[in-house]
Amino acid sequence: MNKGKITKVSGPLIEAEGLSDANIYDVVEVSKDKLIGEIIEMRGDVASIQVYEETTGIGPGDEVVTTGHPLSVELGPGMLERMYDGIQRPLEKLEDLAGEFLERGVTSPALNREKLWEFKPLMEEGDEVVGGDILGEVEETTVITHKIMVPVGISGKIKEIKAGEFTVDQTIAIIAGEDGDKEVSMLQRWPVRQARPSKRKIDPVEPLVTGQRVIDTFFPVAKGGTAAIPGPFGSGKTVIQHQIAKYADADIVIYVGCGERGNEMTDVLNEFPELVDPKTGESIMKRTVLIANTSNMPVAAREASIYTGVTLAEYFRDMGYNVAMMADSTSRWAEALREMSGRLEEMPGDEGYPAYLASRIADFYERAGIVEVLGNREDIGSLSLIGAVSPPGGDLSEPVTQATLRIVKVFWGLDYDLSYQRHFPAINWLSSYSLYQTKMDEYIDESVDEQFSQKRKRSMSLLQQEQGLQEVVRLVGRDALSDDDKLKLNVTRSLREDFLQQNAFHDIDAYCSLEKQEKMLSIILYNYDKSLKALNEGVELEKIEKLPVKERITRLKLISEEELSKMEEIKEEIDKQIDELIREA
Ligand code: ADP
Ligand code: MG
Repeated sequence: MNKGKITKVSGPLIEAEGLSDANIYDVVEVSKDKLIGEIIEMRGDVASIQVYEETTGIGPGDEVVTTGHPLSVELGPGMLERMYDGIQRPLEKLEDLAGEFLERGVTSPALNREKLWEFKPLMEEGDEVVGGDILGEVEETTVITHKIMVPVGISGKIKEIKAGEFTVDQTIAIIAGEDGDKEVSMLQRWPVRQARPSKRKIDPVEPLVTGQRVIDTFFPVAKGGTAAIPGPFGSGKTVIQHQIAKYADADIVIYVGCGERGNEMTDVLNEFPELVDPKTGESIMKRTVLIANTSNMPVAAREASIYTGVTLAEYFRDMGYNVAMMADSTSRWAEALREMSGRLEEMPGDEGYPAYLASRIADFYERAGIVEVLGNREDIGSLSLIGAVSPPGGDLSEPVTQATLRIVKVFWGLDYDLSYQRHFPAINWLSSYSLYQTKMDEYIDESVDEQFSQKRKRSMSLLQQEQGLQEVVRLVGRDALSDDDKLKLNVTRSLREDFLQQNAFHDIDAYCSLEKQEKMLSIILYNYDKSLKALNEGVELEKIEKLPVKERITRLKLISEEELSKMEEIKEEIDKQIDELIREA
């Protein structure tokens, strides 16, 4: 331990001298209030410290004590269903989100020290273990089994292993290693700025199914993949993040509300517990951890919140789970970085952001992946990272968006015009992309329908042709188009309105399985082919356009998952109605 004295306070940044033994990234306790801070620069014995709490009332002469540890999180049973701030302090009440009522200083620990957990050992005395091996299990919630792993860096022979009820910090096993006996509890710590290790990364093979049609069918993200959602204010970034948190087929969801308005986290807290996971029939909160650093909370903790979130996520990945983490918004995080850099008087780069902005963003997204986890076991775990980006004025050329797009593999570009027209999700289908598409095509063709990716490609090609046709209509009017082209505009409109648009607030439409997505696309294309055939047989376009079955196609999205067989009836109806027109012609 090393003690110093404050020489200067500048908002969340303070300077202290007399800290010759301290190291960069050490956590310090500031003043008698024990505010938590982190050394971000050392010059001789002078440390620059970012303080994760309001610094009002702190001044020169106040004491600073180093802890000798880097900023770390507590990992163990009791994280699920909880909400934390950016440095993993528990937020117990909704009012905590308003920031001003938060108690400063070291408060209650991240993991409850009194609660007893039933530990079921899976190993025996005499077993040889290495870091990552599973010592035993705890039923943390009704849907998630928490695997108690040997901490990274510990290995040896199990000398003793217990069974029964324990608090997180009681010893559950003793491991005899080369450097003596190590007592192991259910609680581990990990420094947040350091990625947790795995054996190796493997190539993504499966989509993270989000239940959102435009995403899963056209711009899929892989389990273990990375995606960015840039878009101007009000274009639907938060709604998409919420939809994914609610409906994606991840075992564990870490949701980081970073620098956005407090009422959005309040919405999460009100909505999520009510939502039932179709897989388990239980509240989705039972597999969720929330991290909230709202716009009212201290700016430095916002910078930490992303790392806190991703470290929790990696820990669940290491158990062998599929984890998805959402960060809303990474731009607010970057702004926190910029503010601290400015106070440090570092040389500013593009638009005042520090020169290391791009490498920080890359380091964050590189923590995503699908991996072979540590230990003598074959398990695979994945961590998918999905970040919202809020470029000022929607201008994608700004530094945060640019640095993000260089590293992520999926781009869901939100479009102001689409959201203005109430086309939601406002993901622009012409500018968005997914670099996982080829791989995911194999998956959907194998597991859903062998023609799925074919249909997807054909639909996209039609949508791309639409732009040109619409240009013609604008210049010379619809009458100048051939009937074939008019029909093409009908199908693209159907693709947009009946397929791409999806109402997040409708009971049935909010989630759409891959099976339903495929069936919907099939029917829209089937109707198009059949209509083309009718046209070729001499049926008038007006008659095709007036067919009553059109009405049923517009309501395809409202067919529930349990009644997908109804979709076949619609094909029969298309046949019946169009065949009749052909007979009449
Ligand atoms: P952002 O986070 O980009 O500022 P929001 O996610 O808060 O934008 O979305 C703004 C509004 O747009 C929402 O309150 C909602 O009314 C509407 N909206 C966005 N996405 C959808 C959707 N999928 N379905 C219906 N409405 C949506
Ligand atoms: Mg938002």
